[in-house]
Amino acid sequence: MSGRRRTLLKVIVLGDSGVGKTSLMNQYPFPFYLILLFFLLIRSIREIRYVHNKFSQQYKATIGADFVTKELQIDDKLVTLQIWDTAGQERFQSLGVAFYRGADCCVLVYDVNVMRSFDSLENWHDEFLKQANPADPKSFPFILLGNKIDVDGGNSRVVSEKKAKEWCAAKGNIPYFETSAKEDYNVDPAFFCIAKAALANE
Ligand code: GDP
Ligand code: MG
Repeated sequence: MSGRRRTLLKVIVLGDSGVGKTSLMNQYPFPFYLILLFFLLIRSIREIRYVHNKFSQQYKATIGADFVTKELQIDDKLVTLQIWDTAGQERFQSLGVAFYRGADCCVLVYDVNVMRSFDSLENWHDEFLKQANPADPKSFPFILLGNKIDVDGGNSRVVSEKKAKEWCAAKGNIPYFETSAKEDYNVDPAFFCIAKAALANE
């Protein structure tokens, strides 16, 4: 035996609508864009978009959630993160129990430019613990992402890094990352941390 093991971990992403949850989990490595660009050049753009949209819309309408998988190498383990995202119903209804069931890590996301999204973190944190009901709520791994730090060169931010870190400290030292899904800043390190936290909780 080589000692390598493949592990599947469920990660769920929570936060107010519009903070960038879907954008964060849909970051692809650079070469993916090159391949896609080539693909788009040789095919009709409209046709591809139609097929893709139709598929993902139907899928999301059926289960009310969507997930992507990311493969990461952590020490000697090949880890597959199954990252669950809502299909937008975080706005008006609670998410089904299937969404929370068996989660190994919970990623909370807010927008550093929107105070309300930061104030909502408390609710999302509580809602997760209530719905997922983990064996040991105190040690369950959460990670906080402060997203959209690129907006207006940082001039429109209303939540300081210090304030976010204080909230994390009060919640039992939740790791904190400032990200930009748009500029692909700090997204990979955040997911690496998420994978490590989920693995430790497995
Ligand atoms: P969700 O509702 O939390 O899933 O948010 P989305 O991923 O749908 O993003 C909401 C909007 O914010 C979209 O228009 C995104 O393009 C935009 N967005 C997401 N992340 C960023 C970011 O890091 N920077 C900027 N400037 N815009 C972002
Ligand atoms: Mg979304």
